Order: sequence, then C-alpha cells, then structure tokens
Amino acid sequence: ATQPYDDQNIFAKILRGEIPARKVYEDDWALAFHDINPQAPTHVLVIPKGRYVSWDDFSSEASEAEIAGFVRAVGHVAREAGHVEPGYRLLANVGSDAHQEVPHLHVHVFAGRPLGPMLA
Ligand code: 5GP
Repeated sequence: ATQPYDDQNIFAKILRGEIPARKVYEDDWALAFHDINPQAPTHVLVIPKGRYVSWDDFSSEASEAEIAGFVRAVGHVAREAGHVEPGYRLLANVGSDAHQEVPHLHVHVFAGRPLGPMLA
C-alpha cells in the first residue's frame, strides 16, 4: 500500500514556491527543474502537480487528464534535454528498495553524455 501523501515533502515545497528550484518547464500538470545533485550534464526532475507519492498511486488513482498531461510534459522535457547529445534516459524510483528519497512522484531525465548500460 502507498504511504499517505506528506504535504511537507521537499517537492511539495518547491511546487508551492516555498523553496527555490531551477525550473526548466511548467504547465498545468507538471513542473520540471534541475536536480540539486546532477548525475549527468543534464539531470532534470519532472513532477506532477497533483499529490502523488509515486508511480503506484499516480498510475492507479490519477485522472486520464493528469496522466496524459504528465506524460506529455516528461516527453517535452526529455526531447529538449536530448537535443544536443542524442538520446536520454528516464527513471522513476519507487519505495525504499529503489532508494526513493522524496515522497512525491518524480521522473528523472538524464542526458548530455553517453549514459552507459542500464543499472541492475
Ligand atoms: P530519488 O532518490 O527520490 O529518486 O531522487 C530524489 C532526487 O531529488 C535526488 O536526485 C536528489 O538529488 C534530488 N533532490 C533532493 N532534494 C532536492 C532539492 O531540494 N532540490 C532539487 N532540485 N533536487 C533535490
């Protein structure tokens, strides 16, 4: 079962404008900003504006419009990120085994260098 959403998580604070972030994209459904500890030349996080802990509750509870809006926003950000060096990688960590640190759904977009093989 998914944990209840915590309005004090760091990405909720970024969404409310309570702490700063280097934004790269925003629309009605999603916000994208640079990761504070980048693992590639481009490392952007894309988050839905709704209160979702992870891919689990988002994929099961979000409306069709929220899902479509978020997926389109991820695609937009990824295409922009993959513009200079071709290609990109998308990643979503869910739960403690996957080392999810922030309990608000985020998709990582990595680009800007050869990314090597997938991690196990
Ligand atoms: P996770 O491990 O949950 O998939 O990834 C969380 C990511 O959020 C990490 O890559 C971490 O560097 C990033 N992060 C954590 N706190 C902040 C913050 O306050 N601002 C930004 N921009 N990124 C953050």
